Amino acid sequence: MDTCIFCMVASGEMDARKVYEDELVIAFDDIAPQAPVHTLIIPKSHHIDLGDDVSPDLLNALFSAVPKVAKIKGVDTSGYRVIVNNGRDANQTVGHLHVHVIGGRSMSHGMVLFDGE
Ligand code: AMP
Ligand code: ZN
Repeated sequence: MDTCIFCMVASGEMDARKVYEDELVIAFDDIAPQAPVHTLIIPKSHHIDLGDDVSPDLLNALFSAVPKVAKIKGVDTSGYRVIVNNGRDANQTVGHLHVHVIGGRSMSHGMVLFDGE
């Protein structure tokens, strides 16, 4: 998967502002942040989305990294939103599973926005 940009981030071939790393996952700031804090957590291995052979250990690693990233970014107390865009209707644009951690300002109630509305 050498054409996958997030595989390239995971391997170090592409620069990223790294926030956290462990054996299975790496977290880095989103290149086009939608809030003061916008960090992505990805598996180091290539999985297109949550339906792509993601093991319980990897799921555990991905979501265990969320509060660690929130603490590092200073939003653990103020709160944050966690989003996984999965597939076409969710408008997933990068085909390598990633968890968005978004915070640093107050967000609207609810989380489902529809295209064109
Ligand atoms: P999604 O729409 O859920 O697939 O989110 C993909 C996210 O990846 C977007 O928020 C992009 O801004 C972000 N992104 C794309 N390329 C890079 C990159 N090279 N480094 C960091 N973030 C990226
Ligand atoms: Zn990949």
